[in-house]
Amino acid sequence: MEGQELQQDDIWQAVLGEIEVSLSRGSFVTWFKNTCLLKQNDGATVIGVSNIFVKQHLEKKYGDLIMETLRKQGAAVDHIEYKITPAASRHRELEDEKGFESSELGSLPVTSGGSVQTLRQTSNGLNERYTFDNFVVGDGNELAFAACQAVTQQPGTKYNPLYLYGGVGIGKTHLIQAVGNALQARNPDAKVLYIATEQFVREFVQSLRGRTAAAFASNYRSADVLIVDDVQFLAGKDKIQEEFFHTFNTLHQADKQIIMSSDKPPRDIAMLEDRLKSRFVGGMSIDMQVPDFETRCAIIQLKAEGHQITLDPEVIEYLATAVQTNIRELEGALNQLLAWCDVRSLTPTVAIASSLLQVHKTRPKHLSAKQIIERTARHFQIPLEDIIGPKRDKDIVVPRQVAMYMLHEELRLSYPKIARELGRKDHTTAMHSVRKITQESQVDATLRNAILEIKEHLYA
Ligand code: ADP
Ligand code: MG
Repeated sequence: MEGQELQQDDIWQAVLGEIEVSLSRGSFVTWFKNTCLLKQNDGATVIGVSNIFVKQHLEKKYGDLIMETLRKQGAAVDHIEYKITPAASRHRELEDEKGFESSELGSLPVTSGGSVQTLRQTSNGLNERYTFDNFVVGDGNELAFAACQAVTQQPGTKYNPLYLYGGVGIGKTHLIQAVGNALQARNPDAKVLYIATEQFVREFVQSLRGRTAAAFASNYRSADVLIVDDVQFLAGKDKIQEEFFHTFNTLHQADKQIIMSSDKPPRDIAMLEDRLKSRFVGGMSIDMQVPDFETRCAIIQLKAEGHQITLDPEVIEYLATAVQTNIRELEGALNQLLAWCDVRSLTPTVAIASSLLQVHKTRPKHLSAKQIIERTARHFQIPLEDIIGPKRDKDIVVPRQVAMYMLHEELRLSYPKIARELGRKDHTTAMHSVRKITQESQVDATLRNAILEIKEHLYA
């Protein structure tokens, strides 16, 4: 039995290897990263997937490709079944059948065609600017988008809590706000609350001072939908964690929808109570990726249209290439370009865009290998001696590999040079490290953020 599993695993690795090269990075990560081959014999094939969206998408879009690739590997395949399985995912999926019932909120009557009174200004923290309609769906964010829509259809049921995580400026706030707006529009009487964690913390502290802690607690515990943005800021704040834990439980037990965002998965939030970590992954957690090139182009186009401007495709592509990791920055670059050209009555061109972007985006000339290594060590809170020393503990090896990667990316040092800077003799170690970090940073949001943060400090 074990031997058979091993063989299955080999087949699946080979299949994934082949599919990986035929898809964009974003698609591969989104749809195939957490899959496995659960069963393969006598023509019956069962593939394990982490959630319902992946299941539907693989069935609809990649069924033929998977079948063909499996056959190429010598597997007899008549029929493929997709099964949602916790084994296919690091995220725990609740196989809770009651989840399919409509919640109290979900079954409230829908008011007549989004009537005008739904536009009333409330202090629910929502910003009407963020909607599903003006969110561009593509590689990198489509899974998160699908989950948000599912939650909007049936709040408080299956994906509770919904937890989105990923780098800065990639649309987390936009999406969770869009859920809030959609739900509020559908049910004007529902209590939908959006709050940034920093503000939640501030209000909590004030309530303690003003002896209004009970009012604070009952306000949040009576929500129908609670959206909490950037929960990584709960880290290290014991009292508010305690408070949030009880709020969470009260809402969750009453099948009220909870939505959270963060820059990292719960397990990577240092100084967050274990009981919160386990609550946070108890529904659905989704790793949002930076939108791919085509999606970034579509976003620029949409935002330019918002200003009644049609941009030359060349300009769009230039911007989408120049700003790759942060949509907020991408929007900033676009706005800067449009404003500059507007004042001078010029048509935006690649030349203008590039000269504007050069101004603040160049790598500092004086950046040295030493600075990069020091900054990396500091980021991971390990002593400089350790990163360049002989230790091989995991919490030292990874920062060392990141440092090698940074030297490669930022200074284009040769592998032997990189190895020497980090006290290694063998240049293949450097080569291996750079390759490893390059690959892992594509699928690991925390690592990607670490690299971005180090870079930001170096450039500052
Ligand atoms: P995050 O919360 O992940 O840091 P935001 O949700 O604040 O990022 O997004 C930053 C900006 O980029 C916002 O103005 C948002 O509207 C815009 N944005 C991000 N992704 C998209 C998208 N797919 N389509 C349209 N706008 C987007
Ligand atoms: Mg945000």
